[in-house]
Amino acid sequence: MAKFALITGGSRGIGRAICLELASAGYSILLNYHSNEEQARLTQNMVLEKGVTCELLRFDVANKEDVQSTLGGWLEEHKEDILEILVNNAGVRKDNLLLFMPDEEWDQVLSTNLDSFFSVTKLVLGNMLINKFGRIINVVSLSGVKGMPGQTNYSAAKAGLIGATKALAQEVARKGVTVNAVAPGFIKTDMTEELDEKALSGMIPARRFGEPEDVAHIVGFLASAGANYITGEVINVNGGLYT
Ligand code: NAP
Repeated sequence: MAKFALITGGSRGIGRAICLELASAGYSILLNYHSNEEQARLTQNMVLEKGVTCELLRFDVANKEDVQSTLGGWLEEHKEDILEILVNNAGVRKDNLLLFMPDEEWDQVLSTNLDSFFSVTKLVLGNMLINKFGRIINVVSLSGVKGMPGQTNYSAAKAGLIGATKALAQEVARKGVTVNAVAPGFIKTDMTEELDEKALSGMIPARRFGEPEDVAHIVGFLASAGANYITGEVINVNGGLYT
């Protein structure tokens, strides 16, 4: 019997740092990715170096059928194991002014960042409730907390995920399952690669972009026994940008 943590979008960026953080805490890692197998294998090797197992599970979080068959299949085959932690981290952004935003950009951002929460969480929640222990951590964004121009799709998806976090937290608290969200500001990953870091850092009180590890540490804490009584929270990790 092994205790697993599932990290969606674990191949790169913030997801990779979370995989390593939870591996350091002794969890076996179930690493979901979408298409970047090379990066997924790289992360897998980094996790393996920590002395825990790391299984790769390729599926599209935005595709309900894919989630059902691939993740559902894995759960069927691992009845002896316990999936204790779910980190809903996979995400994309497709920025545009609302006026010019094609339907596909709205749909893709909503399905990848928000609908995925529903289909993935629904599959794993039942066993957490039976085991009377579980940790669900949703990676949202400053954009969902305050709204960002040019990101109506992304802001809506992340704000929706914040609402879902608070609602589900109240549904399952008495069963020992906590549900929290972490809201990064600007973090150095592929997602922010094309941004002008120097110019944008000027408006961040900490005067720098964050590192993926800055986010991973708080996810590690929320997953730990020490965070037993914290649920329905949104924790900002943004160098003081919002507050
Ligand atoms: P990233 O470097 O672009 O990595 C995105 C990850 O999500 C990759 O592992 C990618 O898999 C995976 N992914 C994308 N679409 C997917 C899909 N349909 N199905 C499964 N996996 C999918 O992004 P990041 O910066 O680490 O962002 C991680 C999370 O933090 C996202 O939810 C993002 O919205 C949030 N966030 C980031 C920032 C920031 O400044 N970076 C700020 C606020 C919030 P592949 O490698 O296979 O493509």
